[in-house]
Formats: sequence, C-alpha cells, structure tokens
Amino acid sequence: MQDNWSRYLRMIIGGLAGTTLVGLYFGEPLYGLVVGLTIYLWLTLIQARRLHHWLTHPSATDEAPKSVGFWGSIFDNLHKLHQNHLRTQDRLRAQINRVQESTNAMRDGVIMTDSRGTMEWWNGSAEYLLGFRRNTDRGQYIHNLIRNPAFKSYFDSRDYREPLEIHSPARPHIHLQIQISLFGDDDRLIVAKDVTRLYQLEQMRRDFVGNVSHEMRTPLTVISGYLETLVDHSDELPPKWRRAIRTMAVQSSRMEALITDLILLSRIETGEQTVHDSLTDVDRLIQQICQDARALSGDKQHEFTVNVTDHRLLKGDESQLRSAFSNLVFNAVKYTPAGGHITISWTTNREGAHLSVKDTGIGIDPVHIPRLTERFYRADPSRHKDTGGTGLGLAIVKHVLLNHDGNLEIRSQIGDGSEFICHFPRERLVERAPEATADKR
Ligand code: ADP
Repeated sequence: MQDNWSRYLRMIIGGLAGTTLVGLYFGEPLYGLVVGLTIYLWLTLIQARRLHHWLTHPSATDEAPKSVGFWGSIFDNLHKLHQNHLRTQDRLRAQINRVQESTNAMRDGVIMTDSRGTMEWWNGSAEYLLGFRRNTDRGQYIHNLIRNPAFKSYFDSRDYREPLEIHSPARPHIHLQIQISLFGDDDRLIVAKDVTRLYQLEQMRRDFVGNVSHEMRTPLTVISGYLETLVDHSDELPPKWRRAIRTMAVQSSRMEALITDLILLSRIETGEQTVHDSLTDVDRLIQQICQDARALSGDKQHEFTVNVTDHRLLKGDESQLRSAFSNLVFNAVKYTPAGGHITISWTTNREGAHLSVKDTGIGIDPVHIPRLTERFYRADPSRHKDTGGTGLGLAIVKHVLLNHDGNLEIRSQIGDGSEFICHFPRERLVERAPEATADKR
C-alpha cells in the first residue's frame, strides 16, 4: 500500500513536472503546471465517477472497474470487501434457513413478535395449533388472533417464569401450554405446546377423585350416624366394645373430613366456583374465622391478635377464600402449643394485598417448605398424627390462591413459629361502595 502510494505520488509529481517543462519550453511554465493540474483533476473525476457508478449499481457487474495506480488499489480493496460481505451474507442466510427449517420441523408452535405483539414469523405447527395464516397474518397483532384475556395479561405481564395454559383459539379441543421468552430489543419468542393428553389425564384424575369421594360420602354418613348413636348409648354396651366403638367413631369422622376436603379440592381445581364476579369482605371474614379458631383453641387458650389495615374488598370467591384462610388459621391453632400467640394480618402495599397468619408454634424444618402444599405431605408425620388433619389443607390453600392469581409464601424455623402469607395482586382490590364505607365508620 505504502509502495503504491509513493509510486502514485511519484507519477503525479513526474506528470506535473513534465507539463511544467513543456510550458517552460514555450516560455510559460505556470500555464504548463495549470494544464497538468487540470488534466490530473479531470482524470480523478473520471475515476470517481466510475467508482460512484460501481457503488450505486453493484449488481450490474460483479467485477470492480479496472484501473491502475492508486485508484486501481482502491477498486481492488473495495472489491475484496464487497466479496467478503457477500460471503458473510450467504453464510448468515444459510444459517437462518437452517434455523427456520428446524423450527418448522418442531411439533411445538414457535412465534416471534415484537414488544407490542406484532407477528413477525411463525412455524408450521403454530399455523396448525393456533390457526395462523401464512399469507395474511404477518404484521397483525397477536392479540387479534388469540383473543383470550388471560393470554393478553400474560403477554403484558413480562413475568414468564410460569407457563400459561389456554384452549387453542382455532381448535378448542386442543389444550395449549404457552411459554414466552424475551429476546433482542424487547421482542418475544412464544412457544405453544400441545398438552391436550396431559390435560385430559389430569381431568380424568380429578373427575375420578371427585366421583369416588361423592360415592363414598353417603355410606360413610350412614356408618358415622350409627356409630354416633352407639357412642351415645355406650353405657348399654359390653365394656370390651366401648373402646372399639369410640375409635371407630373417631376414625369415621376423620374419613368424613377427608372426603369433604377431597370434594372441596376437586371443586376448586375444576374452577367450579366463580372467582371473578364476586367480592369478599376479608375484614369480616377474618373476624368470623377468628371466632371459630377461638372455639377450636378451647382449653389451649391461645392468644389471638387481628390486624386489619385496609378495608377494601377483594375480588374473589368468598367460600374458597374462607376455606383457604381457615385452613391456615386452624393449622396455626393445631401446631401451636397451649398459650401460644396467633396473629392474623390483612395489609396492602404497592405489590398487592397480603393475608398473614403467624404463630409461635412448633415451626417447620425449612427443607420441608417447598413440598408442604403437595397433597398428604406432612413435615413430620410422627408429630402430627394427633392433630386430626387431613393432609389436604395447604393443597386447598394453594389451589384457591392459584384461582385468585395469588401465591403462598411460607416462613418458618423449627421451634420458632411459622408465618403463612397469601399474596394477592393489587388489581383484585376493590373500593367499597360509599354507603358501605360510611357504615364501616
Ligand atoms: P394437615 O391436615 O396435616 O395439617 P396441611 O396440608 O394443612 O395438612 O399441612 C401440611 C403440613 O404442614 C402439616 O402436616 C404440618 O406438618 C405442616 N404445617 C402446616 N401448618 C403448620 C403450622 N402453622 N405450624 C407447623 N407446621 C405446619
């Protein structure tokens, strides 16, 4: 490059010196220099024009214009850059085609949208599962094609830790699990998985448990009824039967409680009850549950504190919420030794509304906490066999909260008491009607 440059410089100086000498020969060296400079400028303009033409019509000819000297080297280098650029473009195009081919072969629907949900690209499975059309749907808003409020709020939430389950808008018999990931400039990669088979199995399991529980309830009520009568008249029974009858009565009422909880759980899971239209007065609900808890505490004489700082209503099903909250409060009574302290608080902040049930009871080893909401999971079965619990209480709480877009937080240490907090989103809080507020004051 350096050599080319000095050769080119020498050529220019030589040329100018030549025209100046010719001018000197005619007695006008300055004119000779001006003519030399004019010729140089004219040649430079011609090369610049050729370069401009080549750059503006790159596809007309693949080859760079032929030239010598400095301009020749510029053309050669530009040509090399152009070739490199084309090669990189080809490589990238091949890679994109390969990625598109592989995502097209996937059984899951894959969709790319921008941050507002404008459809940019999707694979063949997305067309089948969600009913998109290749020719007409590009550039459309995804919310116009998947008209589902749950999908819209999931898309807008930007919290994609948990997937969303919806029915396919195009084929209602297909149940889809939607998972969104953020990428690029706040764009969205949406993966829709067909989970119909799993959904049906889960549905069958729920129906089975619900039906069996219903079928068992009637015979069990009859057995419990007779056992109660026998217990009431135990004086008339031979002594060796009395203990057996009492044990049978206790066990049959445990089974009744278990069946009641199983039926309740399957009803909550199938979303049989309304959670969107009804409003619940949590303040009043807590007072009622607290009264029941005092009765349950009986001789154990627990000390109760109720702390309500917000009197707004909660959008949700009262009977479901009653089951959830009372399970937490009754657990606090069951797992707190006599004289212990139980605090129930209903507070709100920027994140939402929170119901906390805190006790000074036996506490739970933190290793058990992640599994406590599983059905029949017990932190320490040996310690809990006398509490008469069904093992379904926290599973009920979890499902009620899921139905109300909430979640359960558990804080506990062995011997240090426990705190169970139900978190609800802010959007579920509703102002009381004015007259109701006035009554409250
Ligand atoms: P159970 O009917 O056995 O109480 P739950 O589902 O209500 O079933 O609770 C699951 C387990 O969680 C209980 O067996 C107990 O080990 C633990 N647990 C729940 N609440 C408390 C509490 N307040 N203090 C200590 N342990 C608790």
